[in-house]
Amino acid sequence: TSHCNGNMDSFVKVPTIKFTKLFINGEFVDSISGKTFETIDPRTGEVITRVSEGDKEDVDLAVKAARQAFDNGPWPRLPGSERGRIMMKFADLVNQHVEELAALDTIDGGKLFGSCKSMDVPGAANCLRYYAGAADKIHGNVLKMSREFHGYTLREPIGVVGHIIPWNFPTIMFFGKVSPALAAGCTMVLKPAEQTPLSALYYAHLAKLAGIPDGVLNVVTGFGPTAGAAISSHMDIDAISFTGSTEVGREIMQAAAKSNLKTVSLELGGKSPLVIFDDADVDKAAGLALLGILYNKGEICVASSRVFVQEGIYDEFVKLLVEKVKAWKVGDPFHPKTQQGPQVDKKQFEKILSYIEHGKRQGATLLSGGNPLGDKGYYIEPTIFTDVKEDMLIAKDEIFGPVMALMKFNTIDEAIKKANNTTYGLAAGIVTKNLDVANTVSRSIRAGVIWINCYLAFDQDCSYGGYKMSGFGRDCGLEALDKYLHVKSIVTPIYNSPW
Ligand code: ADP
Repeated sequence: TSHCNGNMDSFVKVPTIKFTKLFINGEFVDSISGKTFETIDPRTGEVITRVSEGDKEDVDLAVKAARQAFDNGPWPRLPGSERGRIMMKFADLVNQHVEELAALDTIDGGKLFGSCKSMDVPGAANCLRYYAGAADKIHGNVLKMSREFHGYTLREPIGVVGHIIPWNFPTIMFFGKVSPALAAGCTMVLKPAEQTPLSALYYAHLAKLAGIPDGVLNVVTGFGPTAGAAISSHMDIDAISFTGSTEVGREIMQAAAKSNLKTVSLELGGKSPLVIFDDADVDKAAGLALLGILYNKGEICVASSRVFVQEGIYDEFVKLLVEKVKAWKVGDPFHPKTQQGPQVDKKQFEKILSYIEHGKRQGATLLSGGNPLGDKGYYIEPTIFTDVKEDMLIAKDEIFGPVMALMKFNTIDEAIKKANNTTYGLAAGIVTKNLDVANTVSRSIRAGVIWINCYLAFDQDCSYGGYKMSGFGRDCGLEALDKYLHVKSIVTPIYNSPW
């Protein structure tokens, strides 16, 4: 592993921060308390700027605006094609500011500038366009009633939605939640993660420029236990869509249950298996395994954190993996050659290092990495453990960092059993040329997305979400619209019946 800091200054394109206040009812406003909080650059640990700290009273104002916009405003009543047209304009505006938006996520979250610029931000614009195209195709069914009735269903917007999103993909998460909700005709309050609030505020500004009516999209920056909890326990929010940790997901569901029984969808943690069979191209498989765990510095819920390799190719796989990880470049995320930037914050950095200590203490063998890197910021070496036992913490817990647990298997049945030996069920990967094996294993693993001979192959049309304790409800694909729609059945007699 080499540390790729180069001359930091020549790669730094720190943008001017334009938006730091809450966005409520179409205006940027201070929080009622006047409080602000620091957002930190994980490359250095230094403060980028201060952002308004929203709390319950601010969430109340935002919900009031969203309620008014839903009950009396134009948005839910517009023809779908008109909502779609405005969303397309929003998408064009996102595309016009790609560099600046990508740089915001890089300084705020330590994400690779190159990936943000080529994937996250343009992908977000495409997400808007995908759901813009769906906005005028949301319709119900005519029912085959068994008696003399005419029955049909309507799919109506669910109302005011609360979105709570994490820090690992600030842009993709924002649009993954907001776009289908806008298409459905909902109004909303979104809370970005406290680690990465900057791009969400910029997107709120672009939404207004695009012509999204005031009150439809509100952004309240702040912390989880205050602003986040105010959303999940609010009596006037109809649905909540959350992405984040399983622990917080549980709290959100409880808050929803204890308040107004708002509908909940949760996209939570994972401990995704990548299963590599003897017939694989070992070089390619090693590359895939490394990408699967190191992409976005391991801060991705579908990370291939458990890699199972069949005995026949195990030794060769390990050899190639070590070669590849040696060439892996960690460093300033603005540097064009960097493959891995800093972890998002000090807390995450320390949590990952403590899992690495657990791995060592519980008897796993450190094949590579295991240490912090550089003299400032939150950089960690790509870390691979072998001799991992299934009951070790590093094989069970979601670490959310660049830490791979490598394990061996012999038969297909054993592979399936091991892959499913987790409380999570978000994603899985299979590498084999054997169609029977691919078919059997893909149908036997309980997870929301299975990648065969690829990994992290995201697509806007490919829905995505959890089995088991990885949550429920789907993002991406047309399925995501379901979270933001109610189904209403309407029934009327056809003839002059006794009714
Ligand atoms: P991570 O562990 O990856 O930081 P979290 O699940 O803690 O992820 O955070 C995801 C989002 O949930 C963030 O926006 C955070 O502020 C919010 N959050 C944290 N705690 C709560 C809570 N008790 N209620 C509502 N939202 C919360």
